[in-house]
Amino acid sequence: MITGKKRMKLKVSKNIEGLVPYPPGKPIEELERELGITGSIKLASNENPLGPSPAAVAAISRALGGLNRYPDGSCYYFKQRLSEKLGVDPEMIVVGNGSNEIIELLVRAFITPGDEAVMADPSFAVYPIAVKCAGGEARTVPLTADFRHDLAAMAKAVTGRTRLVFIANPNNPTGTIVSASEFGAFLGEIPEDVVVCVDEAYFEFVRDPSYPDALGRVREGTRPVIVLRTFSKTYGLAGLRVGYGVAQGELAGCLEKVRQPFNVNTLAQVAALACLDDDDHLKRTLENNVRGLEFLYEGAGRLGLECVPTETNFLLMKVGDGAGVYDALLKKGVIVRPMASYGMDEYIRVTVGLPEENERFMKALEEVLR
Ligand code: PMP
Repeated sequence: MITGKKRMKLKVSKNIEGLVPYPPGKPIEELERELGITGSIKLASNENPLGPSPAAVAAISRALGGLNRYPDGSCYYFKQRLSEKLGVDPEMIVVGNGSNEIIELLVRAFITPGDEAVMADPSFAVYPIAVKCAGGEARTVPLTADFRHDLAAMAKAVTGRTRLVFIANPNNPTGTIVSASEFGAFLGEIPEDVVVCVDEAYFEFVRDPSYPDALGRVREGTRPVIVLRTFSKTYGLAGLRVGYGVAQGELAGCLEKVRQPFNVNTLAQVAALACLDDDDHLKRTLENNVRGLEFLYEGAGRLGLECVPTETNFLLMKVGDGAGVYDALLKKGVIVRPMASYGMDEYIRVTVGLPEENERFMKALEEVLR
């Protein structure tokens, strides 16, 4: 076996020298083998515990025989149906290999070395990585004491070199939202040519009526706003990688220029199309989430643990020694997300699971804390 550890001369891009790769989780089977356990549950990546939409699975089966062909590079049928649902022209939609890819396309199109992007800290870990890779500067603005975007401070962080602002709404890892009035005020304060990316990966879960209609600002078209959405969360297709951005044609067109011609695979396209009309799966997903959150809040309350009120399918819990609790839960076959890499040592993030998974998590947590 060649180990691949030979040293050689490399002229690595200065932009990536200081970067740390996004930490991938181990496959569940490998973890179980190492720990000598079986039957563990994963509540770590905000996935849909009900599985993919059955309509998507059926569509994938039908498409398998055509995999010798390249995908439809224009995502024609998916865009048509989505455009009807959203009431926007298909040309306003850019489809990506996960919404993650749309973030990268935005950076590729708008950030040159020395340019800046403003974002909250902690927020989705991919924003600063993408910006730094392009030689840009990630200007991070701490969340408020109650873990919300500090949009007033973010507006002040915008300079003449700012090309992009990222607002995860709801935010990951905190589950908090910015309100319509905060968002409106923010847009009024920053220069009109700064692209504002509103990342709505979790928007279907939101119940707070103050949630802004960012897509409405896209439709209005008075300034460059792009809304990102994904099929990885409520639709249960994280393993396929499909997400999209909606923006006015000129902005969407910039992203079209810098994407690979066949960036969204065939199975992802047919599955996402099928999901769009599977209202039943969506309804069951949201109901499971509401009930799961009630159970988790109630359990946390019983254990005297503070939670950050969430508008998503995950919950931050203040457990004291976050890394220790994470490890102890892992040994009991319950995988959650430790928050030290986000600078929140005292917290763990748990994704809402099936009722029996939530129960198992709470029971394990109680034992660990005892
Ligand atoms: N944005 C946020 C806020 C997220 O939490 C995630 C997934 N963790 C993504 C974007 C990316 O999702 P995907 O690439 O799977 O569409």
